[in-house]
Amino acid sequence: MATDLGLKKLKEALAKGTEPYLMNGDQYRESLRDGRRVVDHNGDFIDDVTTHPTLRHTVDRIAELHDKQFGPKTRDVMTFVDKETGKRKAIGWQVPTTKEHLYAKFKGIEETTRTTLGMYGRPPDYGAMMAIGFLATIDRIEKENKEFADNVRNYAKFSSEHNIYSTDLIADAQSDRRIPPNEKPGRLRIIEDRDDGIVVYGSKVAGSIGNIAHFFTLSTTLGKGLGEDAAIWAGVPVDSENLTLLMREPLALNDANPEDHPLDVRGEEVDNYIMFDKVFIPREYLFSARNINLLGLYFESCAHALWHILARLAVRAQIFAGCAQAIVDILGTEGNQGVRNSVTEVILYAAATRSFVLASIEEAVDWNGVITPHPATVTAGRLYSIENYPRIQYLLKDLCGQGIVSRFPSAVWDHPEFAEKLEEFLPGTGVTAREKNRFFNFVYDLTCGSHANRVGQFENVNATPRYFISELVYQHYDRADWAKFVREIAGIPTESHT
Ligand SMILES: Cc1cc2nc3c(=O)[nH]c(=O)nc-3n(C[C@H](O)[C@H](O)[C@H](O)COP(=O)(O)OP(=O)(O)OC[C@H]3O[C@@H](n4cnc5c(N)ncnc54)[C@H](O)[C@@H]3O)c2cc1C
Repeated sequence: MATDLGLKKLKEALAKGTEPYLMNGDQYRESLRDGRRVVDHNGDFIDDVTTHPTLRHTVDRIAELHDKQFGPKTRDVMTFVDKETGKRKAIGWQVPTTKEHLYAKFKGIEETTRTTLGMYGRPPDYGAMMAIGFLATIDRIEKENKEFADNVRNYAKFSSEHNIYSTDLIADAQSDRRIPPNEKPGRLRIIEDRDDGIVVYGSKVAGSIGNIAHFFTLSTTLGKGLGEDAAIWAGVPVDSENLTLLMREPLALNDANPEDHPLDVRGEEVDNYIMFDKVFIPREYLFSARNINLLGLYFESCAHALWHILARLAVRAQIFAGCAQAIVDILGTEGNQGVRNSVTEVILYAAATRSFVLASIEEAVDWNGVITPHPATVTAGRLYSIENYPRIQYLLKDLCGQGIVSRFPSAVWDHPEFAEKLEEFLPGTGVTAREKNRFFNFVYDLTCGSHANRVGQFENVNATPRYFISELVYQHYDRADWAKFVREIAGIPTESHT
């Protein structure tokens, strides 16, 4: 079975480096110059995503993560040593066969989240999670077709050997919900079966970061009600012919002075609407086709991806808690009991989300030899994390008072007439007035700006909205023993007979 999945540009870039399975930032940049069809918010085709005014900032951040695979201080958390070859590979692509592998991944997520401030929901170590989820559910695929199961294994191996950056396509485009899924005009479906693959037509939504990734991992696991022609699991190269990505409008002020917008200048993850206008998917990229038994396998196949989302948010929560403490230190408000209670709430959020992550590792399950963070615990943690997110953002803003509103750009601080007065009138506790202003610029970018608002909505729905997650908790969180216990104590039958 071949493991050569194309991607000429990427292979050329990889071959130029010092590590056989890793790319540094510049190699990663080169791998993206592959003729992909990306249309920006002005309706213009982008010649080179690495130099585009919006995307170059995003590419820089992802390139920084690639460079960290080589950095002496970071390479041990960003990579692992492959037992078979003795060579390093990206940590995301390590298939977890022990709990220690999950802890190592969590360390990698910590590093990635600190680099992106968690504003990127689909960093490189996330991309591997979907393929790992496919490996964890491979028995279902094997039942359908052994060749497809081999394709999944080959994809995971190929990707680990080529430092592949992938992102998922699951949800369908939003249109009139009263139309049955199987009749939606935008649904992605197979329009031709060929001996060497399939041809698909339609669209998919979001594809966050797809414009600067290498592959989409496509799966219709939220596809209940779709027909067999729309049941497709596959790897899709971003540079596939007839595949077009339409970028949403940019939101981060990424060309600003870094003092004024310290977080926005780190770039943003740009979502895309993905149009498949008769795209050919070669057979070796197919993981499942026309198998309606796999429609709706979201909870299982996405278990690893959902864990990454929770783990990233747990690290963001620490950033929020750090922020809360710094705000009250700088404003000198920490002596106030109400203020301390607010900070405690933010600390609690950080402690609880981290505990969900750690508990999910401790109670991990073995699915087809892949150690999978306890899925029901992850789901409960995800519901907790997104329901409380708006409250935490509110608390941070509330703790700031006028600080996040009454901010001035660096040009004002440089003004010959006002600079001195501003310094005299606005000092913080242990920081100058300008340093205080600079800090609140950071909190503004984290909680208030357009970019922060987009990330807030992303956290809320990027992996299904709360009603859906709530239902998953109800279906999957085991409390049978607890109910039995209280029934026994109360002296009633241990099971309901309805
Ligand atoms: C920024 C962003 C990034 C994303 N990234 C990805 C990605 O990388 N990959 C991917 O596959 N998907 C991604 N998604 C898509 C995401 O999975 C969907 O947005 C999500 O599943 C919700 O579907 P929808 O947006 O079509 O909402 P709709 O189904 O149109 O529903 C709209 C709202 O109505 C309410 N609602 C709907 N039905 C019910 C119900 N039965 N009960 C109660 N309330 C209900 C909910 O509040 C819901 O949010 C992303 C979305 C966003 C906004």
